Amino acid sequence: KLNSRLVVVSNRGSCTFVDSPQGIKAVPSVSGLVSAVEPVVSQEGGTWVAWGGRCGREGEFAGISVPMPENGQKYVFQEVLLTPEEVTLYYEGFNNGCLWPLCHNFVEKSVFNEEEWQAYRKVNEKYAAVLFKCAGPRDLFWVHDYHLAILPAYIRRQRPYSRVSLFWHIPFPPAEIFAVMPWAEEMLKGMLEAELIGFHSRKYVRNFLHSAEEIAGAEVDYSNETVYWSGRQLKAVAAPIGINWLDFEKLAGEGEVVRKAAQIRQEAGGEYLLLGVDRLDYTKGILERLRAIEWLLENYPQYRNRLTFLQIAVPSRTGTAAYQRLKRRIEEAVGRINGKYTENYRVPVKYLFRSLSKPDLVAHYLAADMALVTPLKDGLNLVAKEYVASNAGDVGVLLLSPFAGAAGQLKEALTANPYNPREMAARIVQGLEMPVAEKKRRLAALSKVIREQDIHWWWRKVRQSWFGDAARGKVAV
Ligand code: UDP
Repeated sequence: KLNSRLVVVSNRGSCTFVDSPQGIKAVPSVSGLVSAVEPVVSQEGGTWVAWGGRCGREGEFAGISVPMPENGQKYVFQEVLLTPEEVTLYYEGFNNGCLWPLCHNFVEKSVFNEEEWQAYRKVNEKYAAVLFKCAGPRDLFWVHDYHLAILPAYIRRQRPYSRVSLFWHIPFPPAEIFAVMPWAEEMLKGMLEAELIGFHSRKYVRNFLHSAEEIAGAEVDYSNETVYWSGRQLKAVAAPIGINWLDFEKLAGEGEVVRKAAQIRQEAGGEYLLLGVDRLDYTKGILERLRAIEWLLENYPQYRNRLTFLQIAVPSRTGTAAYQRLKRRIEEAVGRINGKYTENYRVPVKYLFRSLSKPDLVAHYLAADMALVTPLKDGLNLVAKEYVASNAGDVGVLLLSPFAGAAGQLKEALTANPYNPREMAARIVQGLEMPVAEKKRRLAALSKVIREQDIHWWWRKVRQSWFGDAARGKVAV
């Protein structure tokens, strides 16, 4: 246990609040960030400060403060209120329309709008005000993700000696891409006010260090992954988030889930079942994956009528025009492929636009011969890890994009460039024809990594990098 109190800060927290006639209802929210951070804050206790999805009036900052879980307090959820204008400019505008595409290397999709940037600054400052309302002088601030990159500066402005750490959950792009953003220097200088910054991979650490040197003009020690700035030092660390693998192994062994998996297989028909599970987002490469399936059916006719590809697309940012356009294009591609390759009324591509519960999701992982995790760019990708954990000891094959952060850890996965349908099709065929012994060997090696570098390992690594000097008696932790 930490001696000082932990204050976790993020855009979204472990639940969303909904106003109802019976009062405010807390609905659990699902995301990679929540899966990773909730076990830590539950274990350590403290406060989680986040936007609960509700709006307030101009000048209203802090919303309700709720013990979590509601029966048996482990931590307190402190709600932040945003105005409807802030939701549009800060959240949908700057976060989703500028930083998200930029950090995933889609520069041409990034919109640079001064008004949105000002809203971003204002909201980061607002978060600081909420923090100071609920945090004591010795509390540890653990800030999460690109939505709150400059919060460390606002914290330090008021409390210069605070302990502040940042974790970046998405890719950090090469310096020449980050530099395109008109506010890159100010944003980096805000980030440099933290004392530790975590990323999912060494590549993102390097990109960040280059940016700190080239854009912000800071002094960088590359061998120690440390930035010297404004009389202080910031350590960067690669600490990829792990999963609670036991949860998946357990679910995969439950009778109900096993029965559901058998049913999915039977209903999918065919000999082979391939699976894709992603939020419907242009970074996930769903359209490119469909092209690879089309290429496969075209060029490997022996697999026609024997193979089913099931894509689960989880609704995401559905109010945004670019996401609505992508959805239409995906549905056109599904229709085109099925129109061409359906035989005896058996369609090769099945497509669901919805999200599944964990047990249902695990049943799908269990049912699939192969998971196609082929994003064009992804900070980490938890689905790849969850697929492995759900099939531990069995024979599933993982095809993983080299552009997913998880590729740095999951070396025994098959890989293919998602932009190359020929290569993707060849790798899929390789996976389907792989001898059972090789499938088992690869899966066992992947499971080993997932067990060793799990969710607890991740927090230990962050904690040790953050408070490493505690051992030398500098801080009370
Ligand atoms: N997920 C879910 N239900 C679904 C599909 C996905 O609960 O129907 C979860 C999945 O278990 C995973 C997360 O959503 O933990 C997706 O995380 P990932 O890192 O793969 O992608 P992100 O959506 O964060 O970009």
